[in-house]
Amino acid sequence: LGGAADPGAVRMSDTSVPLDPPTRRPKPGALTFDAPRRGKPPTHLADLDPAARRAAVTELGLPGFRAAQLSRHFFEHHTDDPAEMTDLPKASREELVARLLPSLLTPIRSIEADGGATTKSVWRLFDGALVESVVMRSPRRATVCISSQAGCGMNCPFCATGQEGLTRNLSTAEIVGQVVAANRLLRETADVVVDTDGAALGAEADDGAAPVDPVGPPRVTNVVFMGMGEALANYRAAIGAIRRLVDPAPDGLGMSARHLTMSTVGLVPGIDRLAGEGIPVTLALSLHAPGDELRDELVPINTRWKVDEAIDAARRYFEATGRRVSIEYALIKDVNDQAWRADLLGEKLTARGRGWVHVNPIPLNPTPGSRWTASRPGVEQQFVERLRAHGVPTTVRDTRGSDIDGACGQLAGIVSDHLEQVGTDEGLLDGEI
Ligand code: SAH
Repeated sequence: LGGAADPGAVRMSDTSVPLDPPTRRPKPGALTFDAPRRGKPPTHLADLDPAARRAAVTELGLPGFRAAQLSRHFFEHHTDDPAEMTDLPKASREELVARLLPSLLTPIRSIEADGGATTKSVWRLFDGALVESVVMRSPRRATVCISSQAGCGMNCPFCATGQEGLTRNLSTAEIVGQVVAANRLLRETADVVVDTDGAALGAEADDGAAPVDPVGPPRVTNVVFMGMGEALANYRAAIGAIRRLVDPAPDGLGMSARHLTMSTVGLVPGIDRLAGEGIPVTLALSLHAPGDELRDELVPINTRWKVDEAIDAARRYFEATGRRVSIEYALIKDVNDQAWRADLLGEKLTARGRGWVHVNPIPLNPTPGSRWTASRPGVEQQFVERLRAHGVPTTVRDTRGSDIDGACGQLAGIVSDHLEQVGTDEGLLDGEI
């Protein structure tokens, strides 16, 4: 989703942007699982488990415990600057950082929207590939939407990234690095707000003036794999990233698994494998159609794993993890938004039980040159009501902010809708930063 698309009217901090390297457009329906071979990014401590980190440090002739110190700098202080690592001997800092904290994500530009509540970042990787991530703040949550691949091989015809084809898989550290960068951004901006307003975060001004803009938590509370790429097609790196995100410090970021959302086109073996990991992340299935004929076109992976197989896998995921699954459904005018399709979806979901799933319709965000457009609001409403009549919890909301455009708005809208749903349903998100 997304791509380094035209940011349109949004404000950019840097306009001298090199264009995305050209990729081959896939033929309609073609699926790509293997990325074209490219060099590997340098190994980073976020790629390694604690034992491997110690081994790498020992190889440099340093005591093993330096690995934990270095990990703390990265995962707790979000820094890779040797000057800040005053607990490490000066002589070995540079060497440790060069070996274990190579810089993997170079910021190319950042784009703000929603009055600064949303920041999209475009990153250049070591080989020139570009990926993006988006940070979204709300009073009680700070969410980052991350990419797992440069491009995507799943070729969904309504998705900007799908049309670019797959450039390559990201490494675990390239994925985790987007979350650490988001933490850094949140911390920096939280400081600014506190300094300028002299007020507690999110507090109301006590002089009767308008409330102070709530800036939200100073670090990431939620991560969604809804940026570029199909993470389950890059399984090893993706599960490595999930481990780093949930492992307590100094091994990782210590986040709660249920605040991580894995979104997938429906790679059934990947869903089952994830269900067996014992890390109950939230699963989102991008269904977009309840029947095979249409879904074969909208989500080409459906030619491998059919609607019923994908929904069955989602249900098994719920049984294995206890996590309620989210069904993503981009409403496309006169294509997948008919009331009978809502009925069919409602029937297919409730046939597998109740209380295990909710549906998250979102209006299609048309990509440039797309033959499709978003459903009309009345049609959208009817779709929602039909699903609810089947007893399926369903929430649709407008996409976020009007000053955000193109792929960025698309990304932000999807993610905020999804999280509103998770947050409302569970009421669990407060105080779990
Ligand atoms: N590969 C993963 C992540 C993709 S992006 C997946 O397919 O789930 C996250 C969501 O955005 C997916 O549900 C995807 O289908 C949806 N999406 C992509 N392009 C969109 C568009 N133009 N309008 C609305 N939703 C879109």
